[in-house]
Amino acid sequence: REGWLSRLRKGLARTGSSIAQVFTGTKITDELYEELEAALLMADTGVKATEHLLEDLKRRVKEAKATDPAAVKALLADAITELLAPLEKSLVVGEHHPTVMMVVGVNGAGKTTSIGKLTKHLAESDCKVLLAAADTFRAAAREQLGVWADRNRVEIISQEGGDPAAVTFDAVTAGKARGADVVIADTAGRLPTQLHLMEELKKIKRVITKAEATAPHQVLLVVDGNTGQNALTQVKAFDDALGLTGLIVTKLDGTAKGGVLAAIARERPLPVYFIGVGEKLEDLQTFKAREFAKALLD
Ligand code: GDP
Repeated sequence: REGWLSRLRKGLARTGSSIAQVFTGTKITDELYEELEAALLMADTGVKATEHLLEDLKRRVKEAKATDPAAVKALLADAITELLAPLEKSLVVGEHHPTVMMVVGVNGAGKTTSIGKLTKHLAESDCKVLLAAADTFRAAAREQLGVWADRNRVEIISQEGGDPAAVTFDAVTAGKARGADVVIADTAGRLPTQLHLMEELKKIKRVITKAEATAPHQVLLVVDGNTGQNALTQVKAFDDALGLTGLIVTKLDGTAKGGVLAAIARERPLPVYFIGVGEKLEDLQTFKAREFAKALLD
């Protein structure tokens, strides 16, 4: 099986004007910078981050007295790495008993899959996990989470058609009583109206605090990296409504829109705890700024 980095690279390169192509010439010209600007925008880096990167790059080129495109490319990798570095943080569990995580995101973003992968990762590091199926609207979501729970032999609190806040409250209370290390609450991604969704998520958050005063310790948004600038819009909307503590950015395997992480870094720098690079269990990876910058430019 192909390594995830190479799949990430291929996906990122699947655009008519890949960033790497900009550096195949022999001279540093104005056109090179223009092409680079277009390629960065094509990769969904967004106007602000693109402007920032170009300015920063020109400064670095001057300082290093670079004379050929290959050297410029290496300096761009440094600039992107520096921009993305603040997003590189690891998810800490163990400070609270239990650590309560609330996971949000629109339907189809990869929320349930990511929770499954995270559960396996935590269960393997000897964490006692309890899942809360607070998406009581979709039977399929509950079932899917149930499959992940069975597979990893972790407990799940689930109730058909129940009140999502009540299910979450029960789960946190059960987690405390049963000595769970981590409680993960899956939430709904779509309700009749978007406004309604945010109100319900706020209610779930309040109820978690009622069950455990210091919680939730994490409010994680799962976003589909393949949606490019739309992902940034979602990050802002969910952060404004709920106060996010971090992100999981999925589907960075088949996408040419990986530049969106630079846009997030520039406009809403939240920790990216994991990136999804495929549907398999091992495809939830920790985010490394340098690796990602390199993949973006290969
Ligand atoms: P939810 O509605 O947010 O819970 O989304 P799901 O977890 O059901 O995922 C929606 C689809 O995206 C499923 O087919 C997943 O297998 C797929 N998916 C999730 N994460 C990734 C990823 O990182 N890469 C790829 N290629 N597919 C993913």
